[in-house]
Amino acid sequence: MQLYTKPYNLLLKHPFTLGNGTSRTSTPIVFVKLEHDGYTGYGEASMPPYLGESHESALRFLNSVDLSSYNDPSDIEGILAYVDGCASDNPSAKAAIDIALHDLLGKIHGKTCFRMLGYTSTTTPEISCTIGIDSPEMLKQKVAEASLFNVLKIKLGTENDKELINAIRSVTDKPLYVDVNQGWKEKEHALDLIYWLQEKGIKLIEQPLLKGRLDEVAWLTERSPLPIIADEDCQRLVDIDRLQGVYSGINIKLMKCTGIHEAGKMIKRAKELNLKILIGCMSESTCATMAAASLSSAADWVDLDGPFLVKNNPFRDPELLNGTLVLPELPGLGLKLIDEQLFKSI
Ligand code: MG
Repeated sequence: MQLYTKPYNLLLKHPFTLGNGTSRTSTPIVFVKLEHDGYTGYGEASMPPYLGESHESALRFLNSVDLSSYNDPSDIEGILAYVDGCASDNPSAKAAIDIALHDLLGKIHGKTCFRMLGYTSTTTPEISCTIGIDSPEMLKQKVAEASLFNVLKIKLGTENDKELINAIRSVTDKPLYVDVNQGWKEKEHALDLIYWLQEKGIKLIEQPLLKGRLDEVAWLTERSPLPIIADEDCQRLVDIDRLQGVYSGINIKLMKCTGIHEAGKMIKRAKELNLKILIGCMSESTCATMAAASLSSAADWVDLDGPFLVKNNPFRDPELLNGTLVLPELPGLGLKLIDEQLFKSI
């Protein structure tokens, strides 16, 4: 198999601001193309800067991976064990190879990825659209722009969280998820806010406290009327067992966990431990989003809005039907490359 790489910048429709005040207008991406026997699989690494990966680190990693001696793409376990062993970090870059391998294999076998993995297209939950931190007026505009979505995910963790929720509630009564991104400082304050949020129709709370404060999260989860979901506290399969009895569930993202293959193992383990499953994403094109979507029938909640929040998606946007992502009945991930120039310069 032959691997090709293409660095890219996904431009965001709105600057993305977190509770800590950081803001950005684009996300560095590396697209990969995996070729074997006349077939082509596409993959994607998305690298929000706060996670520590970059174009440079991803390209350095991907250039160090030599798949030329691997001639059986169905040896997913063997190939990805080799890729994972090439470096201790670089989860997004590893995910790019994993995604391309699954797309390639689906095309070779003429099967959709989701069916190849043993999932269905019929029980997929509605997807939420993320509303980043902004002024109350801009929040109302963003809610209007998200009219195709039946669920919204609101970023909180500011000094004026109630004001932000009140602004959103003044224009919509849709179900809301809340992602705090570690922004609440004290567990008692968090519990008070959660009770208030429950009255406002919020359905779940993601990563309320600083990563690593598992005793405090366990205290909160025990008392919380809403499910508490780990995001920053849950990166890979190895993290899950210590979260039993601490969180209600986990947010699985391909860019954290090195891709579809490990995400499938995480789903299995989470179900064994009675942890609920949210499938999430970074700022991504259709490529990585449809890879995550192929797992979505196993999830309790799905937060896969990446392609809808960017201006220069080089693949055709996913289709939404009644607020759920449509999984195309096409081999692999069912991607359609609309920017034909994307890989031309390779
Ligand atoms: Mg999150």
